[in-house]
Amino acid sequence: MALIVQKYGGTSVGNTDRIKNVAARVAKYRAQGDQIVVVVSAMSGVTDGLIKLAKDIALLPSEREMDVLLATGEQQTIALTAIALHALNVPAVSLTGAQAGIMTDGVHTKAKIHNITPKKVRDLLKQGNVVIVAGFQGETPEGQITTLGRGGSDLTAIALAAALKADLCQIYTDVDGVYTADPRIVKDAKKLEEISYDEMLELASLGAKVMQGRSVEFAKKFDVVFEVRSSLNDNPGTIVKEETKSMEDVVVRGVSLDKNQAKVTLVGVPDKPGVAARIFKALGDATVNVDMIVQNISHGSGVPATDLSFTVDKPDLLKAQKVIDGLKKELGFRDVIATEKIGKLSIVGVGMRSHTGVAAKLFETLANEGVNIDMISTSEIKISVVIDLARGEAAMKAVHAAFIEN
Ligand code: ADP
Ligand code: ASP
Ligand code: MG
Repeated sequence: MALIVQKYGGTSVGNTDRIKNVAARVAKYRAQGDQIVVVVSAMSGVTDGLIKLAKDIALLPSEREMDVLLATGEQQTIALTAIALHALNVPAVSLTGAQAGIMTDGVHTKAKIHNITPKKVRDLLKQGNVVIVAGFQGETPEGQITTLGRGGSDLTAIALAAALKADLCQIYTDVDGVYTADPRIVKDAKKLEEISYDEMLELASLGAKVMQGRSVEFAKKFDVVFEVRSSLNDNPGTIVKEETKSMEDVVVRGVSLDKNQAKVTLVGVPDKPGVAARIFKALGDATVNVDMIVQNISHGSGVPATDLSFTVDKPDLLKAQKVIDGLKKELGFRDVIATEKIGKLSIVGVGMRSHTGVAAKLFETLANEGVNIDMISTSEIKISVVIDLARGEAAMKAVHAAFIEN
């Protein structure tokens, strides 16, 4: 008898027929004698709809109240999935994140899981139930409802699989697995049989929303091997696991485009020690995630000044601007320019460690497309460039063709 954690994303529970379909799949596994823990997302569009309602009322709503609001999305689907299983005569019990013992820190809207005590889940499984857990949510030790960041149901599933020492963790979604690029944008993208944690982590953090980045980080830390596969067919999916020797043979495993970043430029920042520290400490304190940072060399006479650009997640832009406005007097920079019209294009592969000329080929491909590069950042296994959002998809197709289709 195996213990299986299955996670179903928003599209997979997007309407009542889909929920019945999920119930049928779960029932099939259970009929083979397996114990099943199901993690579900909110029905597709529900989380976005709730965010929109709040933003219609206030531009910067209280993050505590956002968590109370957003957690309701998943609470609908756990109950509906339990009802669908009951209709198939399968005993099933739904649990909120808190009821499932998912404890987090108090950083509302992007809380981190601190520990899981899944005693209730274990007891209910032992009694023969399918246990259905609300994804994306947890509770602080003080009893506050928290959410785990967008796409956070992936994290719930992987963390539960680790805590329960599950034999199998399956992430069911609306594509057949992890592809070399988003198959909705790049028609020639290929499904990968396997991918290393590090590559999946980079792709996820760089915009491939098929997995939430933090969930992959967690999987790597606790060595949770998982499969990404479709809830709409029985095709084998993609196995995400630790790196093997042969994985280095492929230079670029995947290409991603992150359209969810914004860029802030501080113009005329006084060039003296401590200024960057002050700016990024203030942003950090406001829980704004800063990604790329570029500082230009100062020119001209008078007090030396530089331009400082950085990127943040789009939903954090207003918060970042508020923090920066608060520092203007103290730091004395001249101006702030913010834009949401950027895209971050990245190539990822563990093979980059042992192959040369990859950056040159990327820049050349973009030059041939007439795409200007605004910012660059690299790590051992990835190269990212910030470009004009309007050219993002065309650039992605060209880069995919150059590195993967040839
Ligand atoms: P779920 O609701 O199941 O969590 P998501 O919408 O979060 O699903 O993620 C699945 C989507 O991720 C796919 O529909 C696909 O368009 C997108 N995606 C982006 N990059 C990739 C990739 N490299 N491979 C597969 N899917 C990708
Ligand atoms: N419902 C949440 C979201 O839309 C969590 C998830 O789907 O994983 O981000
Ligand atoms: Mg998702």
